[in-house]
Amino acid sequence: MLLVKKKDNYFFQFPALSRFPGLTHAIACRSGGFSRAPFAGLNLSPGVGDEPEAVAANRRRLLARSGGGIHVYTRQNHGTAIRVVSREAWECGEPIQTGPVSADALITNVPGIRLLIQTADCQAVMLFDPQKRVVANVHCGWRGSVADILGDAVSVMSGEFGCDPGRLIAAIGPSLGPCCAEFINYEKEIPRPLWPFRVGPHHFDFWRISRHQLAAAGLAADNVHGPGVCTRCNPHLFFSYRAARKTGRFAALIGMDADSD
Ligand SMILES: [Zn+2]
Repeated sequence: MLLVKKKDNYFFQFPALSRFPGLTHAIACRSGGFSRAPFAGLNLSPGVGDEPEAVAANRRRLLARSGGGIHVYTRQNHGTAIRVVSREAWECGEPIQTGPVSADALITNVPGIRLLIQTADCQAVMLFDPQKRVVANVHCGWRGSVADILGDAVSVMSGEFGCDPGRLIAAIGPSLGPCCAEFINYEKEIPRPLWPFRVGPHHFDFWRISRHQLAAAGLAADNVHGPGVCTRCNPHLFFSYRAARKTGRFAALIGMDADSD
């Protein structure tokens, strides 16, 4: 990942996605926002106990510093619901939107729409089909991994938009690494087929689980790009639920530019 600075906001970007003209993506780090401790500073989630005015100001700042467009958030609940964001979201003109329905994956082919996933240790997995010009952003915590929400999202991309999984580019956002993904009760929480991804007495490599699930969905291994950055090990850059239970959420965003149609 590459680090980009805009005023006091830091963004990570994946060179594998940056090379496509008309595609915008970023991981917004926690610095440079209006929230106060324990949510300091660019907390993007209204659902963690932060002041609503601060969250709204943070969302407006992210919109301004990440190239504009329409920012579509979702009500994430560690489920497997997938929402296709239609052209109506663009046409209504509201620059920052949170849909009325819960979803843990967003997909669109509408230029100008940016799909946002908020995390603090979970993975945001961004997907892009350079030929069909379709993007997805998937919230993938351990429950999402167990349910294979990544496989479901790829299925919707191919089923509804004709995407060839072998062509998709995937980028796994900063999240809990194998260093910190400790599951003391894994025998109850993690199904046995995922036990081969155990890396210590109680630790799991969820980055490798995602790579495995994306490969099973048809993605080429060379097209899957990992974070290599653990949120809990870098609490100055990212919010981490495991590092501090009461904390904010940072975000991954991806979308085609409005003039790239
Ligand atoms: Zn770690």
